[in-house]
Formats: sequence, structure tokens, C-alpha cells
Amino acid sequence: MLAAIVLSLAQSVTPAEVSYALTYRDSRAGLVSVRIDLPPASRGSRILVIPRAIPMGYGEQPFDRFVSSVSASSSDGSRLAVESAEGPRWLLGAPDSIVARIEYEVDIARMEQEVLAASDTSKARPGYLSLLGYSVLGYVEGLEESPVRLDLEVPETWPLLTTLAPRLPLPLGRDSASAENFYALADSQIVAGPELEVRALATRPPAYFALYAEGETDISLLSELAEQAMLRTIEYFGEASFRHYTVLQELLEPLSERHRYGFSMEHLDSATFYLARDGGLTGASSASDRARVLYNFAHHFAHAWIPKRSYGKGYYPFTWELAPVLDTIWFSEGFAQYAAIEAIADGLPEDEARAYRQNLLERRFRQNVATAPAFIRRMSLVELSRVASTRYSEDFRTGRTVFSRGGLMAAEIDDRIRQETRGTHRLRDALRHLVSWSRKNGRAFEIEELPTIFAEVTGVDTRPIFDWWLKPLEVRE
Ligand SMILES: [Zn+2]
Repeated sequence: MLAAIVLSLAQSVTPAEVSYALTYRDSRAGLVSVRIDLPPASRGSRILVIPRAIPMGYGEQPFDRFVSSVSASSSDGSRLAVESAEGPRWLLGAPDSIVARIEYEVDIARMEQEVLAASDTSKARPGYLSLLGYSVLGYVEGLEESPVRLDLEVPETWPLLTTLAPRLPLPLGRDSASAENFYALADSQIVAGPELEVRALATRPPAYFALYAEGETDISLLSELAEQAMLRTIEYFGEASFRHYTVLQELLEPLSERHRYGFSMEHLDSATFYLARDGGLTGASSASDRARVLYNFAHHFAHAWIPKRSYGKGYYPFTWELAPVLDTIWFSEGFAQYAAIEAIADGLPEDEARAYRQNLLERRFRQNVATAPAFIRRMSLVELSRVASTRYSEDFRTGRTVFSRGGLMAAEIDDRIRQETRGTHRLRDALRHLVSWSRKNGRAFEIEELPTIFAEVTGVDTRPIFDWWLKPLEVRE
């Protein structure tokens, strides 16, 4: 009996932390230094990997290209050999080496020059630093699930925010945070500098609006819309899936005509929005501009539930070196966007809500499906999802059609559930149930499981609707 107790205690000890220290100095503008300290005796852990694939980025960026001066040492401080390997990998030491510390630098200035999608790159501008975790932080193969500690150091007068532990007032110069594992670390962001402005939103759990603007915009108006979108989205899903949330918006002077602005990205506990400097919302913006921004916020916030915490295969665990091939983008994008439409509509008077929903379904989904090229229409939804897995925004015909077909599927399922339950249930209940199913099961769902999970709480058989929408558009009649 005693032996059994001792054993269970030993098993409950959490694995030792991997400790990251990230430093940015005024004197070395554009360059970030990273140090990784491994838990003692991480024997066999000899491969450093810098991510290329971006969670929900549906593509890759060559972040390893901006890494230099990689060094490694053992616990007695002796230097280990470092060899650049195939892919975004470095081989550290000899087979019997025990790696204790890894250090390297990342050239943020060059990254921003060479990665043309503003939503995929870190930025270093005068008085401002903005880092996407996965673009600068690597991991040691085999330690991806270890808990992580992060220590940050920036110029001592700079306000600093990590989305792992956002709070006001912002700490100056230094901060620390922890993350459950490498995914949570890599999917977080760090922003710092005197040009950063942060406001608290009146939400529970706490949420923050962080802005860096090189153009004109109205932070009060933006944070008000973010707050409204956040309140509506939490209300739709019934409860928050996160302990805190950060909305980061940047308005950037374009680096060149080839650089692309306008895409947003969602993360576990944050969403990032990147616009060119003239894209900001101001007091003079029209009602439809405001409505567009409100919807865009709600859309990306909804991803904190779908698919960040309720997902099909490939979203998690994540393959960092090559973008995963995904079967369920139509769900992740279509159902989350439909949820965002409903979340906003729920806050409107009934007739306005109906008009809002119809208008968004038409503009965001039906038009895209109607105008999709024939060869894309002929793809089954899973086939289209696989194609969009690496080309979603690169060739946005794939991304647009896959989310539109998913969004229309969600709308039809919602109509069916409301009809058959005489309005006592709706898709919202099925999605809430799926989120708690995912939390309980701790795994990806299979597509075939979705109708069963939905029926558990609504009693409505939606399988025929799933089957119909999953088929190629051309051959269904
Ligand atoms: Zn989306």
C-alpha cells in the first residue's frame, strides 16, 4: 500500500521546466537574443527546431532563415558542436552529449523585410518590438510537452506585455510568465516599447486591447468594438475558454508595395490584427466600416473556442516543421464564422438580427460559393480542405470557398435544429456541447462523430446535412 502511494506521488511530479530567456537591447536594434535552458539530464534531446508551420496559418514561413549564432553547451559550461541539419533543425553535440543550454539570435528586421505577409512576421521598429512566439522561439525535439518558463528583458524604460500574462499597469523592462507547453508558448506574442498603448476591456475574464499605430486611428472606438465583440462571443459560447485575452492591433507603414497587410490571426489567448497605416478606424468611419470591424473581431475571437480548443485532426498536436494537411478547415473556419454572425445577431432586436444574418450569409458565404471556379466546386469538402491546408490565403479562392461551404452548412444545421426542436435548441447548444466534449476527451474529433455529438444535446439528426455539404457541389442533385 505504501509502495503504491509513493509510486503515485512520483508520477504526479510535473516534468521539469524548459526555461526561455529573451532579450532585446536598444544597442542591437532589430536583433533578438534567445537562451534556452533545458531541464537537467535531458539525455537524447539534441535537436533544436525552429518552427516553419504556423498554427491556423495554413502555410509555412522560413523563420529558421533568420536565426544565426546558434551555440550549445553542457552543464559544466563546455561548448558543444553545432551542426545545421536538413529542414529547420540544428544538431547539438555528440550522441553522448547532454545539452544544458542553447543560445541563438533572430534577425527581426530581416524577417520583416523578407516575410511579405504582415500577419506572419515579427517587427522591430523605432520604439516598438512585436514578436510572434513561433517566429522566434524554437524547441528541443522531445521536450514539446514540458512546461515552460519565459523571462523577458527589453530596454528598462519600455512597457512590456506578454499575452501569457497580460496586466495593467504594464511592467517596465522585465517580465516573466509560464506556459503549459511549447504550443502555448509559441502561440503567444510579446509586444514592448514606448509607442505601445494598452487598454483594459470591461470583460470577464479580463481582456486587453493593445495598439501600435503608425497611422491615424481611434483607440477608444476600436477598444469599444473589441469589448462588444468579446462580450457577445463569450455569451454565445456560454463561457470563456481562456483565463485572459489580448487583442493586438498594428497599423503599419508598409515596407514595400509587395508587403501584404489586412490579414488577421487568432491564437490560444489572443488575436492579432495587421493593417496598413491608412486602414485605421476613426471617428469619421462609416457605420458599415464599424460593423465590418466588429464582425472581424468576433470572427477571430470565436476561434479561441473553434478550433483552438475544439478541433479536427492536425490542429493539435501540431507539426511545426511542415504545415499539417487538414480535413476540417470548413468546420474551423465556416462554423466559427457562423458562430460570430450569430453572436452579433443575438445582441440585436429580432428583425435587425434576421436582416443581419441574411446579409452576412449572402455576402460572406453564398456569393463566394456561387462564384467559385468549377474545378474548386467539383472538389469534395475534405479534398478542398486539404488543398487549402497550405494555400488558404496564398490562393484565397481555396480559403474563401472552404469557409463559405462550411458556413452555409452551419446555417442549415442551425435551421434544422431550431425547426425540429420548435426553437428550444439551436446550433449554439451543439457547439457549446462540442467544446465541453473536446475538453473532456482531450483529443481531436472525427468528422463522423460530429452529428452524434450534436445529437447528444439537441436530439436532432443532422447527419444528412453534413453528408450533403461534404460532397462536391456539382454532383449533389
Ligand atoms: Zn477565421
